[in-house]
Amino acid sequence: MVTIDDLRSVARPVDGPPPDGSVTMVLHDDSEADAVLLYLAADRSRQAVRVLLRSEDIGYVRRDSVYEFFPELSKRLGDTARVHPPLDAPPSAYRWMELRCPEPECAEGPVLTMHLNEDDPPRCPRHTGQPLRLEP
Ligand SMILES: [Zn+2]
Repeated sequence: MVTIDDLRSVARPVDGPPPDGSVTMVLHDDSEADAVLLYLAADRSRQAVRVLLRSEDIGYVRRDSVYEFFPELSKRLGDTARVHPPLDAPPSAYRWMELRCPEPECAEGPVLTMHLNEDDPPRCPRHTGQPLRLEP
């Protein structure tokens, strides 16, 4: 199991606006940190994910950073959906909710979180103050 500090140690600061459509993951504690690696491992097209600890911006965790945690997987990672990183829980153990900005044509990518406070949802970084909505 990795921790948020592990992610922090490999994360790259966000300098400038994130690429259009890039995914943001909002974590709440260490128990969710593995999910970032699983997310990257599940699909080769996922190059990086922006990680927030609650409202704190940790930065980008890149796909090649995942190799630091699991060097034995090396380039095989993402070649098959059946790669099993040595983690405590399967990907299905994590239930992500997908939030989106309600502004039409907003280029901000989906925000994934496991906890949603309906009274205080995350806000769109590109439309300040616009609360993100749960994708149906
Ligand atoms: Zn927006």
